[in-house]
Amino acid sequence: MVTTHNLGFPRIGARRELKFAQESFWKGQISQEELKTTGAELRHKHWQNQRQLDLVPVGDFSFYDQVLDMSATLGNLPKRVKETGGTELDQYFRAARGRSGQETTSFEGVHAGEMTKWFDTNYHYIVPEFHQHTRFQLNADRLIDQIAEARAQGLTPKPVIIGPVTYLWLGKTKDESDRLALLKSLLPVYSELLDVLSAQGVEWVQVDEPALVTDLDADWRHAFTLAYHHLKTCAPKLLVATYFGELRENLQLACELPVAGLHLDAISAPQEVARVVDWLPPHKQLSLGVINGRNVWRTDLEKVLDWLEPAYQKLGARLWLAPSCSLLHVPVDLDSEEKLDSELRSWLAFAIQKLDELNILATALNDGRDVVREALASSSSAAQSRRTSERVHNPSVRSRTTEIRAELGQRQSPYSERIAIQQEKLELPRFPTTTIGSFPQTPDIRQTRLQFRKGELTEANYTTRIREEVRRCVAEQEALGLDVLVHGEAERNDMVEYFGEQLDGYAFSQFGWVQSYGSRCVKPPILFGDIARPQAMTVEWINYAQSLTEKPLKGMLTGPVTILNWSFVRDDQPRRDSCFQLALAIREEVLDLEAAGVGIIQIDEAALREGLPLRQSDWANYLDWSIEAFRITANGVRDETQIHTHMCYSEFNDIIESIARMDADVITIETSRSDMELLDAFRGFQYPNDIGPGVYDIHSPNIPESKQITALMIKAAERIPAERLWVNPDCGLKTRQWDEVLPALKNMVAAARELRETVQ
Ligand code: GLN
Ligand code: ZN
Repeated sequence: MVTTHNLGFPRIGARRELKFAQESFWKGQISQEELKTTGAELRHKHWQNQRQLDLVPVGDFSFYDQVLDMSATLGNLPKRVKETGGTELDQYFRAARGRSGQETTSFEGVHAGEMTKWFDTNYHYIVPEFHQHTRFQLNADRLIDQIAEARAQGLTPKPVIIGPVTYLWLGKTKDESDRLALLKSLLPVYSELLDVLSAQGVEWVQVDEPALVTDLDADWRHAFTLAYHHLKTCAPKLLVATYFGELRENLQLACELPVAGLHLDAISAPQEVARVVDWLPPHKQLSLGVINGRNVWRTDLEKVLDWLEPAYQKLGARLWLAPSCSLLHVPVDLDSEEKLDSELRSWLAFAIQKLDELNILATALNDGRDVVREALASSSSAAQSRRTSERVHNPSVRSRTTEIRAELGQRQSPYSERIAIQQEKLELPRFPTTTIGSFPQTPDIRQTRLQFRKGELTEANYTTRIREEVRRCVAEQEALGLDVLVHGEAERNDMVEYFGEQLDGYAFSQFGWVQSYGSRCVKPPILFGDIARPQAMTVEWINYAQSLTEKPLKGMLTGPVTILNWSFVRDDQPRRDSCFQLALAIREEVLDLEAAGVGIIQIDEAALREGLPLRQSDWANYLDWSIEAFRITANGVRDETQIHTHMCYSEFNDIIESIARMDADVITIETSRSDMELLDAFRGFQYPNDIGPGVYDIHSPNIPESKQITALMIKAAERIPAERLWVNPDCGLKTRQWDEVLPALKNMVAAARELRETVQ
């Protein structure tokens, strides 16, 4: 018999119950006990959803983040947090977000832990903090309690913890010390934890070590061997789980670890399955992740069985089945989606449906395909309909993508020539000022969009209201004296969804929420088919805004790479192909804006950096096609049309040459939090075009003084010639309030004026 299990279940709840409870607690509207009750109810429900599995994950639920939970279990919350007193949960939330609930007046807060992306997903974790003298101390209460809860439901618990090496790998030292040196003092605490779990009668523990799919140097590789030799005397059986990528040069290391089982992500590393089946010592269990835990497509079960059956013949009861990774990265339940048509629904599977698929596969292996004949037939026919549906395959899009040539991405003249033409036309001062696109999204704007969506507002009334907002935004920018204006993006709910909704080939769920961090959830649109743009998407709004001012107004678009990276994308063609289709669609919009007389067009690529693959050797390939996609989108315009792009997140140093290849006339980037450190990249590499390093940190309510802005810009001018510098905030202003934005921009404009006088 094969064993079925799951690596983790989404914790937010099918209706985002956890989010609402967290936020009510933080606002002081519910008590700690009420929050804990919601947590327990969600766990109960989610285990019921998983009750057909042989082993259910325990410890995957979290009130904020699973890495922070591990820090708490290891007694490694930052010292500043431990000193604040209060309950465990208070300290936990302070580590996550600076403050707990119900303490808005008396407690100033401590600074929150840093947050960063969990491998190559859009989930963000709280970075563990280390010092040379960090000492760990076990607190296993959370796991012990939850083991008991799962048992009370008659289930077999399999605690999930982050492995010692990945835990260190995920963290940062706050002094200069080497965090790997802490392994020695960390391992005894892991041993203690495993002993405690064993005393609870636990047979299997899942130890997540996804660091095994990254580039590791010899010391880190050695750490794995050391760690698991240390832990091998502990009683519970360990299943080391790797996911999100191929093991490659770490494959042998992973197979040889002295543990009882290995989980391999057969979705991202299909070509490694055969090798692991052959190499894995005969006393070990092999868990294969055969259902994609990162996307929303239904599995073609017969196809999986075709390769899984031979593996089962070799492995017998040593074979375990699971989703490829934790289901944290997919929505909870497709059954909630009443608005999706039945054809589209038949192509999809969310967490609950994925576990059903897993059970069908297990039954087929255990008792033969015949027993689950109907389920297999329905899976095959869904796969067949997806392969052939006209909604997915649009021959005219196909033929256009095959006709893509490099010239499409080539501007007419080099930057040095076209910038001169643009300057003559635009007549901008030195140190021109602009913003990144959005202005505050007031409750009124949100209300207006919601009413329109619900049909409570006619299209004409909606347009009038949004136009009022655009008018206000343009007037404010004129009054401030900004040089390049924007329309403010009041009509946009989200920079990806807005475009997805207007493109063919996209679908939208109602409840397809996925946790991004803490209580923040995103609902990625579903890119299911060939992408086409039936009509212009932004031209009317931009035209209207331009009609209100003599100053140049910047058209605002989201680029193909960002749209791709923030969507659930199809798995029946390479990401690159979907990206090129998006590029052609957005290119049409760029050309329509240009034809309408818009002289400056910004194409945001906020998520280009975060799409980088986990392995550095895969970067070049990703950058090649993603930069090419941007070039196709942007570079079909005439010399006099100025192309801007914007990128969030710092750390450009390692990809600066690719960014230069985009050949945007102007790039605006996030720098203000790093005190222009980011611009160090520009020392070694002569970035050729115009650049606007962000001087107003829009993530903070602080209002920058004009002196601070001038100082930042003078630093920038040490690295980049002054005539190529722009002055702007570091991201869109939509999350801020008008009363913050106005004084901040006023100071920014004053700083630019001063720079024009003082910098030669
Ligand atoms: N134009 C977008 C805005 O201003 C860019 C947002 C982003 O980079 N995340 O909101
Ligand atoms: Zn940004």
